[in-house]
Amino acid sequence: MVSEKLRPFGTTVFSEMTRLALEHGAINLSQGFPDFEGPEAIREAAVEALRAGHNQYARSQGVLPLVQAVAAHQAGWYGLAVDPLTEVAVFSGATEGLMSAMLGLLNPGDEVILFEPVYDSYPACVAMAQAVPRYATLRFPDFAVDLEHLASLFTPRTRLLVLNSPHNPTGKVFTPDELAAIAELCIRHDVTVLSDEVYEHLTYDGARHVPIATLPGMRDRTLTLSSVGKTFSFTGWKVGWASGPAPLIRAAQAAHQFVTFATATPLQHAAAAALSTLGPDFYEGLVAEYTARRDLLLPVLAGMGLQPALPKGAYFILADFTSTFDGDDLAFARHLVEDVGVAAIPPSAFYPAHPEEGRRLVRFAFCKKMDTLRAAAARLRGH
Ligand code: PMP
Ligand code: GLN
Repeated sequence: MVSEKLRPFGTTVFSEMTRLALEHGAINLSQGFPDFEGPEAIREAAVEALRAGHNQYARSQGVLPLVQAVAAHQAGWYGLAVDPLTEVAVFSGATEGLMSAMLGLLNPGDEVILFEPVYDSYPACVAMAQAVPRYATLRFPDFAVDLEHLASLFTPRTRLLVLNSPHNPTGKVFTPDELAAIAELCIRHDVTVLSDEVYEHLTYDGARHVPIATLPGMRDRTLTLSSVGKTFSFTGWKVGWASGPAPLIRAAQAAHQFVTFATATPLQHAAAAALSTLGPDFYEGLVAEYTARRDLLLPVLAGMGLQPALPKGAYFILADFTSTFDGDDLAFARHLVEDVGVAAIPPSAFYPAHPEEGRRLVRFAFCKKMDTLRAAAARLRGH
């Protein structure tokens, strides 16, 4: 029944693993969502917005307080000046922003450069836009960009490169040299960049997030995406936004008006409050808390004989399990959920071109309460 375009993608590994976690009573370190609440004042802002009557369709490009707050955020954090009315648009999560941007920008047969391991929605978006993915592979343990191979992927049909830094699932923060090389290739080949920066505020050990739009020559060819899910721990709100030059915003908006038309109005007002009222204390606390969560889990994984890669950003740890388990990632994830009581993600599905790279790895999400991580640690240590 499912169309030929979507049939290869099946059910996402996130839904599948959360279902298995529930079925086996496992602690869920698979799907990346916090098991704690975002800031109380921002939840109150959502309640206030409902009570204030912000309950009808929003402006399709986003309510004014939110587009203004996004513009102020880009200017304040990164020195990127964007016009809130023509250079910002709001979507139902970064997921819908990615989909609408690709539907709005790509013609059938266009080529799109993706980095694998890839966030699973990107290839599905490329397929729905009837475009063709080309993969640059990031390999365990350092996930460095092979610049020679990357350069070889550019052809006259290349329309778009999708970048995700900090990166899910590796925790990699692309280095300044890598960003500069990617920018140089995109300028040389006149390629647009879709920059998924949903983990922009989650970087560790002094690593700094640099939006590729801030590099020379990149502002006019980059559409930057973020959302309320990761920074403010409200993944269920599904409010995301894009900023960038007006022609790119118009292209994404051309699809968005027919995909959802507009995003939940009261939650947009609450997202505006989050962006405009939370100060440095909030962002510093976020990084300190996530660093503590990461540092709790890392030695536990190493202690059970896994080889974890040290994430400098986002909230995932990829680890090689092959010295402790004989089998592929699906078998290891099944063993963890059934016998150990901890759910994790088998990442081979994130390596469409080189699934063998993912077959020896497992992904743990650490966006969980310290108590949840301690309980998971107890189970993993008993393994
Ligand atoms: N991009 C990446 C890399 C992600 O990890 C996620 C989060 N799950 C998303 C996009 C989706 O963000 P949202 O929940 O705002 O749709
Ligand atoms: N981004 C989240 C993760 O990587 C999950 C998003 C989803 O379930 N689609 O775990």
